[in-house]
Amino acid sequence: MKKILVTGGAGFLGSHLCERLLNEGNEVVCLDNYFTGQKKNVVHLLDNPYFELIRHDVTMPFFIEVDEIYNLACPASPVHYQYNPIKTVKTSVMGAINMLGLAKRIRAKVLQASTSEVYGDPQIHPQTEEYWGHVNPIGIRACYDEGKRCAETLFVNYHNQNDVRIKIIRIFNTYGPRMHPNDGRVVSNFIVQALQNKNITIYGDGSQSRSFCYVDDLLDGMVKLMNSRDDFTGPVNIGNPNEFTMLELAEKILKLTGSKSELVFEPLPADDPLQRQPNITLARKELGWEPKIQLEEGLVKTIDFFRTIVKA
Ligand code: NAD
Ligand code: UDP
Repeated sequence: MKKILVTGGAGFLGSHLCERLLNEGNEVVCLDNYFTGQKKNVVHLLDNPYFELIRHDVTMPFFIEVDEIYNLACPASPVHYQYNPIKTVKTSVMGAINMLGLAKRIRAKVLQASTSEVYGDPQIHPQTEEYWGHVNPIGIRACYDEGKRCAETLFVNYHNQNDVRIKIIRIFNTYGPRMHPNDGRVVSNFIVQALQNKNITIYGDGSQSRSFCYVDDLLDGMVKLMNSRDDFTGPVNIGNPNEFTMLELAEKILKLTGSKSELVFEPLPADDPLQRQPNITLARKELGWEPKIQLEEGLVKTIDFFRTIVKA
């Protein structure tokens, strides 16, 4: 039995990860400050004697003895990470320093939840891990993008300078049950709007694209990366290469919900990337990983979840 720390464990991805690691027979410590996560996401795990929930902010040092650390703490939705941009940078950078310092001291293996946002508004398509990215360092997304880029730098430096065992996963847009209804990300926004027959808010003309990965697929890749051989550190892209425009996404959600909602067009936020698609050759080769759940199947499961929490 391994003892595993999950920061950001009460969030969307973190809560699924805690559940999965417990099911695989591990002891899990979930740490969260509840900024965008909720106790509700992990309340069903509280009866498990191998699960522990701790309120803590990763910008402050934390001491514990564990074998592995998954560092997921950080708001992921643009609305939330732009709410307090200075705090977002602190969470990524100081959070990374605190978790790497802890990993160094206790000789734990540590995984960083990085992001496709390190590629910014990409000029090559699809994005490979070698691409350095195209990020506006003073734009409204910079607190998140540059925070995550600096965290990657810290991870690599702790590995090279102090032999800390690190793993870096670059997560592409992931969706599924337990996304917060007010999260502000596109999949949850469109589903909630469709279920309530409210206008579907398309930012810009809806021609911008994203590649959506279902949460179970994403976690398969994340856990495989953590368990991969020590000399494979990443960064590695994990995401679903099937790419859709926001108009196509809206149409699929309207069809699957049977909604009467209308599409409305709102201004495109600054620096919103035009296109995004992971090249997953490295994940296929090194981890034997590829996504299994395609968009419609994943959307059906996600819509079923939202039907249980959203009033029509
Ligand atoms: P989320 O907002 O649901 O979860 C983030 C969790 O971190 C929340 O529970 C929040 O309360 C917690 N948190 C935030 N700041 C904290 C702090 N200072 N101290 C302690 N806890 C803090 O988002 P998510 O989608 O579950 O994302 C999890 C991780 O994966 C994030 O690091 C995010 O950047 C990364 N990621 C997610 C996606 C995606 O599409 N879901 C894509 C790329 C990267
Ligand atoms: N988006 C949209 N309507 C919404 C929310 C988002 O059209 O109600 C667009 C947004 O402008 C972006 C895409 O959907 O082009 C994905 O946005 P999200 O915030 O989910 O993720 P990210 O931009 O970080 O990939």
